[in-house]
Amino acid sequence: MHSIFRPPINWRHRRFRYRLVVWRCLNCGAVHHNATKICRRCRSNRLAEDQLPSRARLLTYTVVKNPPVAFERQAPYIVGVVEFEDGTRLLTGITDCEPEELKPGMELERVVRRLTEDGESGLIVYGYRFRPVLKKR
Ligand SMILES: [Zn+2]
Repeated sequence: MHSIFRPPINWRHRRFRYRLVVWRCLNCGAVHHNATKICRRCRSNRLAEDQLPSRARLLTYTVVKNPPVAFERQAPYIVGVVEFEDGTRLLTGITDCEPEELKPGMELERVVRRLTEDGESGLIVYGYRFRPVLKKR
């Protein structure tokens, strides 16, 4: 029954999930991942919608072998911290590679992936992941 309430929540976050839409403070530069009217760092109300670039550099990563219940079927998986040109850092899943292929400083690109499936409602949740930039041959 509770799953009826999931679609609106996903809807609310979907612009961030698909396109990395953020709210950037024009006063201090802080980036907020959820819609907000007041900067949580400096309390300014001068916020503008922005979109993070599709490429970022890998800072650090780890392999998750004992994930939270909702992600059990994906384990093991890789999570990492990436940094965009403007210095914004993001914790994200990393996909399409083995941990051995990852090196701090390497360039990653954003892709959309199926993240979870709610067995009861059949709702499939998509979201972003990052993967190593594919070399052109
Ligand atoms: Zn601010």
